[in-house]
Amino acid sequence: MSDLRDLYQDVILEHSKAPRNYKQLPEANHKAEGFNPLCGDRFTIYVTMEGDAIRDISFQGSGCAISKASASMMTQSVKGKTAAEAEKIFARFHELVTGHAEEKNENDLGKLAVFSGVSEFPVRVKCATLAWHTLQAAIEGKQESVSTE
Ligand code: ZN
Repeated sequence: MSDLRDLYQDVILEHSKAPRNYKQLPEANHKAEGFNPLCGDRFTIYVTMEGDAIRDISFQGSGCAISKASASMMTQSVKGKTAAEAEKIFARFHELVTGHAEEKNENDLGKLAVFSGVSEFPVRVKCATLAWHTLQAAIEGKQESVSTE
C-alpha cells in the first residue's frame, strides 16, 4: 500500500487549500447538493447550462482534502464541455479511482490522474466521486439532494 503522502499529492493539497470556481453562481440554472455521510463531505454544485453545454460551473461547501480538490478540478475539467462529454470524463475518472482504468484512458484524464492513488483507499472513492455524482444530478435537474449512501 502506498504511503498516505502519495495519495495527498501536491496538486490535491493545493486545490483543497485554494479551490477553483469556489463561489455561488447567481445565474446558474442547474443546482444540486451532494452529501457523503461516511466522511461528512457536503457540496453544492452550480451549473449554467446553455443548451447541452456547460457554460459555467462552480461549487461551495466543505469536506476533506480529497473531496474538495476533486470538486475543484472537476469544475475546471468540465467547463465548456457538453453534458455528454462531462459524463464520459466522469466514467473514466470513476474507473481510475476504483482501480479499473486502462492506461490509455488514464492519460486522457490529464491532471485528474493525480487521483489514481485513491483506488488504494476504497473509503476515499466516495470522497473523490461526490462532486461528480452531484454534477450529474444537477445536469439532470433533480431537485432532491444526492447522498453517496
Ligand atoms: Zn471525504
